[in-house]
Amino acid sequence: MLLIPCPHCGERDESEFNYGGRVADFPELQADMSTWHRAIHLPDVNDPIVNEVWFHASGCECWIQVNRDIRTHEFQPIDKLDHS
Ligand SMILES: [Zn+2]
Repeated sequence: MLLIPCPHCGERDESEFNYGGRVADFPELQADMSTWHRAIHLPDVNDPIVNEVWFHASGCECWIQVNRDIRTHEFQPIDKLDHS
């Protein structure tokens, strides 16, 4: 069970959230499949902290932005995004 820190609701179970994806620089749409595969599926082991957005669907219904350590799945809140 992962606990995600919502800036509005506090720490909540990940089952209350929808994963929105990484906030990252992705390749151009025309890039080859190998480039896309590396960008999406192979994290940079030299930088294990990934920046992600999550939607608190069963809570405040806000998008939040967090940093997650992919080695430990420890979350750190960054900011709330909006109330839409
Ligand atoms: Zn919330």
